[in-house]
Amino acid sequence: MKELMNYVEGIKDEIIGYRRDFHKYPETGWTEVRTASIIIHELISYGYDVKYGRDVIDEGSRMGVPSGEILRKAYERAKENGGKLEYIEDIKDGFTGVVGTMKFGEGPVVGLRFDIDALNILESSSDDHLPFKEEFASVNEGVMHSCGHDGHAAIGLGVAKTIAMNKDKFKAGSVKLIFQPAEEGVRGAKSMVTKGILDDVDYVIGGHIMANEEFGSLVCGNNGFLATTKLDVKFIGLPSHAGGAPNEGKNSLLAACTAVLNLHSIPRHNQGASRINVGSLIVDGDRNIIPHQTTMKVETRGQTTEINEYIKEYAERIIKNSAQMHDCKYEIDYVGESICATSDEEIAGIIQEVGKHTDGITSIQLISDKPSGSEDFMFMVDRVQKNGGRATYFTLGGAQGDFKPGHHTQGFDFYEEILPIAVKIFTNSLEIILSNNK
Ligand SMILES: [Zn+2]
Repeated sequence: MKELMNYVEGIKDEIIGYRRDFHKYPETGWTEVRTASIIIHELISYGYDVKYGRDVIDEGSRMGVPSGEILRKAYERAKENGGKLEYIEDIKDGFTGVVGTMKFGEGPVVGLRFDIDALNILESSSDDHLPFKEEFASVNEGVMHSCGHDGHAAIGLGVAKTIAMNKDKFKAGSVKLIFQPAEEGVRGAKSMVTKGILDDVDYVIGGHIMANEEFGSLVCGNNGFLATTKLDVKFIGLPSHAGGAPNEGKNSLLAACTAVLNLHSIPRHNQGASRINVGSLIVDGDRNIIPHQTTMKVETRGQTTEINEYIKEYAERIIKNSAQMHDCKYEIDYVGESICATSDEEIAGIIQEVGKHTDGITSIQLISDKPSGSEDFMFMVDRVQKNGGRATYFTLGGAQGDFKPGHHTQGFDFYEEILPIAVKIFTNSLEIILSNNK
């Protein structure tokens, strides 16, 4: 364990360098062309067998893929910003997943997952915002790494290098480094699972830096993620003159508003927590026009996959009948989805063991059931567990002192000293799993 820890210490600046580069050129879900091309390039240089693009993403299972226009712009931007030209043709148009495999011998396959996407947020240009002060703030206006996935991508490359340069320490089995696009909005994991990327994986580990948690606080298995469905709903009516012929129109806004109030009235479930939110309502009408089209963004969540299913089905019924009430048509586009799954104590225990021996870890909790957001890594957990494997998702506090910024905010940042610690946790856990299974 010690040798790997020392090695990681030695490449700390390089890991931070990766993070700053990704931070400067953030890309949102399915547009991570530059990011993924650099990951491919680095993994190949470290000797991995690398697959990417359509080889790791199932086209039909992608969710919430942006418009062709947005994808094309991302591709052009990646070319200008130093994307690796030899790979970007194969990953453009929303195929930005990368998987690097290294085999050491016979034995189990361990998957380590890193998400790589950014968010549509304008980054802070305040002098006390470190990325701005140190000149690695986003150059892609309106896009920002404000959840730490720049750090996750950098951790993934740090792990890749550490393993490759210490290959002799791993005597059996294989490692599969999974770089997943479009985690935000829970849109990407399902397409990699459907493609079969997890089918030969016996153990899978994912993790997240938490800038709003005490530096070095480690939770080895998180079970509080809610199952969720994201729906884009369109009500289609018929426009007409609001004064001259209101009876000839079909009012899409009325249908939508009927739906909004009823969606928020869905009864709670006695088996656990549930959520519903209509967060956006956009109408194409005007004061004197019966509104033709109204779009609505909705999400449902549940403490179990079944509870989310209950809320989702209830919501679908309300949407259908609200449209019918006002003689409108409707379309539902499912743009994101995740399920519930629980971490295995056996593998969380390995993370705990590594945590005990890692400098900088300040507190350790084996399993947390605290309800939180949603995480599409649970699709990977579910697939591995259904095949008889084990999985865990750990979180690692990365606050700098008392500065604990919220995720998905303009001033988000984490203390970069957490990056090598995360690399140590991934690589040492891998070492333990593979040596236990020799
Ligand atoms: Zn995140």
